[in-house]
Amino acid sequence: FHDAGEAPSVLAPFLARCRTHPDRMALAYFDRAWTHAELDAESDALAAAFADAGLGPGDAIGLYLQNIPEFLVATIAAWKIGAAIVPINPMYRERELGHIVEDSQLAALVALDSLLPTVDAVRERSAIRLVIATSGLRALGRTDDLPAPLADVEPLAVEGAELYDDVIARFAGHPPPAVDPSPSDTAYIAYTSGTTGAPKGAVLTHGNVLFSAQTFRSMRQLDEDDVIFAMAPLFHVTGLICSVALTLLVGAPLVLGYRFDVPTILDLIDRYKVTFTVGATTVFLSFLDSPRFGEVDISSLTKIICGGAPIPPSVVERYESATGVYLHNGYGMTETTSPTFGTPLGHRSPVSSAGSLALGIPVPDTEAMLLGDDDQPVGVGETGELVVRGPHVMAGYWNNPEETARQLTDGWLRTGDMATMDAEGWFYLVDRKKDQINASGFKVWPQEVEEVLYEHPSVREAGVVGVPDEYRGETVKAFVSLRPGRTATAEELMAHCREHLAAFKVPRVIEFLDDLPKTVTGKITRMSLRELDRDG
Ligand code: ATP
Ligand code: MG
Repeated sequence: FHDAGEAPSVLAPFLARCRTHPDRMALAYFDRAWTHAELDAESDALAAAFADAGLGPGDAIGLYLQNIPEFLVATIAAWKIGAAIVPINPMYRERELGHIVEDSQLAALVALDSLLPTVDAVRERSAIRLVIATSGLRALGRTDDLPAPLADVEPLAVEGAELYDDVIARFAGHPPPAVDPSPSDTAYIAYTSGTTGAPKGAVLTHGNVLFSAQTFRSMRQLDEDDVIFAMAPLFHVTGLICSVALTLLVGAPLVLGYRFDVPTILDLIDRYKVTFTVGATTVFLSFLDSPRFGEVDISSLTKIICGGAPIPPSVVERYESATGVYLHNGYGMTETTSPTFGTPLGHRSPVSSAGSLALGIPVPDTEAMLLGDDDQPVGVGETGELVVRGPHVMAGYWNNPEETARQLTDGWLRTGDMATMDAEGWFYLVDRKKDQINASGFKVWPQEVEEVLYEHPSVREAGVVGVPDEYRGETVKAFVSLRPGRTATAEELMAHCREHLAAFKVPRVIEFLDDLPKTVTGKITRMSLRELDRDG
């Protein structure tokens, strides 16, 4: 189902549809919608502005934006002139932005106007020639009666930047000469989540992006009658592929809601009868816990892929018993342009004896092996580092040949994740290699302990880390948040763990938090938990 002959990039099918179905809806943002023809015209004007500033093939254009229409427009515009996009997390501040701007040698930036002071702070020592400013309000065309996620957005007076509206008006009707990207051209420099350290820029080609969008399409059999909701932030690889790239490939309209706000998201799913989305486990847990959940109809949302972080089987059961919809596990990473393992249509992922939900099987045209400490493949049921090769594997890390050489050999990518495979070929994630706890020589994988904690009826979220211990070197500590209206003591949770785990895996310390620290993509960050422990 991956038709390599289909197109050189996801741009081609979009442009073809703009000609054949100009009036078909392409995009919705709260109560406003865009047709294909409107999106084509707006991206032509922005592409002309980029070209006018001297941008073209080989240049990198930063997108420092929330999930707003301009993100999609600017991506199409960049690809129309053969440039690459560099999405940047809008929560990033000066130091983090500066790292990416410098590392990627950014030539232009489309930014939220509220972020311009941060942009100004890094601009002087950068190669940025053009900054275009916009706000989450612009596309709505009003400043009152705003949806909840926009309630505190105030447009700033803009200096040193071009206003998005002015740019579009100035260049309307003057599209630049078309550049057809080839599969080996860079489409996207994707910075990793930074769960384990500073974000690294993965160089993804148009071929990578097309292949991964095709994978999402085939995983849930999507076509133009589907409706996609961008749950993950568009600045993250999964958000970009399963939202922006997928909508361009398939023609199913994309629905955007600025940022993650559960009641708003539930309303938008109901309003546009969304059928498909991808999100981390914590997203679907927050649906169930929202008072809005019972007041809206989200029965259209039947095609869900859940991934990005371990999925406790009990969460899949909770969601299915509340909605009738099975959360299909999907595993991916920035370095593989998102999807790498998935649960095939019509299948349910088995649960291992250790209580982990299978990630799935490799996506088409993908090879996977598990390597032991001696770099030799391990047998069925044994744990090794997951190494993968396929059309979605990045070209390398941007500007970082040492790290590229460490992770990538002959197209094989070291994932840094430890996994097992069963006799039927299902893969299971054991944990990140770096997160293994060594308690007096006993090796503990935090994920196994977390899964047991999630089985307790009072536990909402759990994060387990190794913390320094005078006697054991490291000891197992759990951070737990409780479900609303439920109670549990540390002793109770330890007793529950003792029932299901060997004594050396049972947390010696349990700390309760209202909420666990997460990345913006909804991953519980063990790095922050270790810091919390250090800072007492
Ligand atoms: P960084 O590399 O900067 O530390 P990160 O690894 O979290 O951050 P991403 O590329 O967004 O950045 O995430 C990929 C990782 O997420 C995988 O290596 C894996 O550890 C985890 N992951 C992804 N999908 C799943 C899944 N379905 N189940 C369990 N873990 C998953
Ligand atoms: Mg990583």
